[in-house]
This record gives sequence, structure tokens and C-alpha cells, in this order.
Amino acid sequence: MPYRMPAIFFGHGNPMNAISTNVYTEAWTRIGRSIPRPKAILCVSAHWYIPGVAVTAMERPRTIHDFGGFPPELFAVQYPAPGSPELAERVNELLGADVILDTDHWGLDHGSWSVLCHVFPDADVPVVQLSIDETRPSQWHYDFAKELAPLRDEGILVCGSGNIVHNLEAFAWGNQSRDPFDWALRFGQRARELIVARDHPLLAGYESMGRDALLSAPTPEHFLPLLYVLASQNADDKVTFPVEGFDGGSISMLSVMIGG
Ligand code: ZN
Repeated sequence: MPYRMPAIFFGHGNPMNAISTNVYTEAWTRIGRSIPRPKAILCVSAHWYIPGVAVTAMERPRTIHDFGGFPPELFAVQYPAPGSPELAERVNELLGADVILDTDHWGLDHGSWSVLCHVFPDADVPVVQLSIDETRPSQWHYDFAKELAPLRDEGILVCGSGNIVHNLEAFAWGNQSRDPFDWALRFGQRARELIVARDHPLLAGYESMGRDALLSAPTPEHFLPLLYVLASQNADDKVTFPVEGFDGGSISMLSVMIGG
């Protein structure tokens, strides 16, 4: 029986985590050391949220600095992991006809590289990104992501990178140790309980979970990568939470590992 790779959701938070050392980045580093080396990584990042489904299919994806107002050290970071046109083809095969094989537009955005630079600091594991189709409801994403489940048996690490609670309007800029808002704590805890209970239908329809959910995920793009990870869960996969915490009161840094 071949080894089944885990699937991991990373709460990525502030792009500055790329060049910081803290409890989150230390946990990401530990994950990289504790799991078998993947053949390649398929990453679903909150920051490639577009009208359509695309996969990066270039040999050398560029490092995209998709943010503003950060120090030059962060703009200087390069994550030169190779791409994998082969994995892009495989994803295309699994997902069907409408996938765009992107050979020259996107690359690796900070949702991917700000985390992967800690998980695989040598940048020697090929990375492919899959976009999130902004025209589709959350339940569609969960169902769609199920088609990717065979990848875990093919040595591919499926990653989602977002934040289960992500409200930038409420974020306490300059006071990142602020206590979490009560609605953020409640929704973060509820989501965690549902993950443990494997109540995926409720999570896949999180918009109907009331005011706490609306405040915690006022826009869907940081929540949806979680569904791509949960969708690949088998009945016998254990669930662990490698790291948790809140940043600025309104960003949950919870990571979720399925299997492994
Ligand atoms: Zn983000």
C-alpha cells in the first residue's frame, strides 16, 4: 500500500510571517520535517481568487509579491521552487474540461510562498497552484475538490492556504496581540468542532452559520481553501491541529492536518 500523503490547511496570516520566526512559522517548519517528502505540492491559495479555474503549468513559477506597504526585505524574498507541468496536467485530467493551464500569467503568490518557505526552505519540491473560482458557491468548491482526492495516494501534498477567521476591517493593526473578538473565537471554535466531528456539509455551507460566520468570513476567499483540504479526507484519516492562535483579534492562525 503506498503511503497516503496528508492534506494540510495553513492559516497564513500576515505576509511578514515569511521573514519572521514565531510559533506559527516554527510549527510550519516542524510539519516540513515530520511528513514524508512529497513528489510535488498542489496549493490552493486565498490569493488566487479569479473568475475561473486555472492551474499554474509553467516550469519556473515566479514569486509574486501580491501586497503593498511592507518593507523591502519582504519584497526581496524569492521562493524559486520549480513548477510541475506534469502535475498541472494531472489536475486538469481530474477536474475536467474547463481548467485553464496557465503557462505565463500567475506563479506563486504569498499565500503559497510565505508558508512554504518555512515548510520546505530549500524550495526543492515542485509547486503548482490551483485558483479558486470566485463565481462559485462554497458547496460547489467542496464537491469540486473531492475530485482531487486521488492525488494524496500519488505522493502529492494538497495544501490550502487561507484563514478560517479573516476580517481585515476589524484587524487591530499595530496591536497584533489584541485578544480575539468574541465572534472570532466562537466561530473559530465552532469550525474546529465541526472539523473534528467531520461535519463537512455544515462547513461547506458556512454562510448559513449565522452572524459569527459572516463576521469571520466576510469574504469567502480565505475560508474556501479549508474545503479543498477537508474534501480529501477518508473515513480513517485522523485530524490534527499543528498550531493555533489569533493575530490582531480577527485572524485565526489555526492549521489543520488531515492524515499524516
Ligand atoms: Zn491572505
